[in-house]
Amino acid sequence: MQIGIVGLGLIGGSLGLDLKAQGHEILGVSRRDRTCTVAVERGVADRASTELSSLSEADVIFLCTPIGQLQTTVEQLIPHLQPSTILTDVGSVKGSVVSTIAPLWPNFVGGHPMSGTHENGVDAAVRDLFVGNPYVLTPIDSTPPASVETIGHLVTAIGSKLLHCDPESHDRAVAWISHLPVMISTSLIAACLAETDPAVFDLAQALASTGFRDTSRVGGGNPELGRMMAEYNQSALLQTLHQYRSKLDQIIGQVETGEWSALTETFEATRSARPKFLKES
Ligand code: NAP
Repeated sequence: MQIGIVGLGLIGGSLGLDLKAQGHEILGVSRRDRTCTVAVERGVADRASTELSSLSEADVIFLCTPIGQLQTTVEQLIPHLQPSTILTDVGSVKGSVVSTIAPLWPNFVGGHPMSGTHENGVDAAVRDLFVGNPYVLTPIDSTPPASVETIGHLVTAIGSKLLHCDPESHDRAVAWISHLPVMISTSLIAACLAETDPAVFDLAQALASTGFRDTSRVGGGNPELGRMMAEYNQSALLQTLHQYRSKLDQIIGQVETGEWSALTETFEATRSARPKFLKES
């Protein structure tokens, strides 16, 4: 199959490496010449250019630009496409993306790989990034079932666990397990920066170990991605943030009044609930 990838960064580049290894011909498009050169050198793509017209023969095109660039990219791509070309994206938000792109190109399948690292750009692309992780497709009533099946086969072949849901449910679910954690982790790091005693601040940095590494990881990632989550999933994210603030207020109250049994009950409830979110652990 001829597969186009627009946006040869962490996700687009990693898809290119894995799909090329599956025997597909990969045609890459990115914004900068340097990215295109590196992509070919690294085996991300067989050919790469800055011209969307180079994708006119592609059977499937993965749109892997930042979410804010998707609409313009599709509008510029459409004059070059054959009617049978399947477009799919990898954006972390689905409601606004699907409602914008599907009317422009009905043969569009919304998608989101639940994989990533804290790095970005083509140099960050790695093999097997998607292995064992969920990859969710968000078809709507007008999405051609055969196209959903084609994308499903491609992402399953690179080791992803395939799921389907509607775009709105996707956005509410990822607000809980992906977008809210980024905001919490960011707030944690920002709160630590508020320590005013330089000796304590230096000591905290010297003592930080696995606990801080785990809890701060997603707050130390790509700033552009965090902003996109908030901007494009504003309503679902706000609901989770308000719920989180309410839980935090409850814990503050328990600590202030010394309700240690109630606090222990909270810890016990969360200890038993956590594995349900992380089924393999
Ligand atoms: P990234 O590493 O920054 O890659 C994005 C790439 O898009 C950049 O390398 C840039 O290429 C290219 N680009 C930007 N504007 C473009 C344009 N107008 N035309 C063509 N190429 C353009 O970001 P990423 O982490 O891969 O994220 C890409 C998408 O994946 C986003 O929609 C995000 O929501 C989604 N996603 C990310 C993660 C994650 O954890 N990172 C996980 C799941 C989904 P140049 O180098 O040529 O400038």
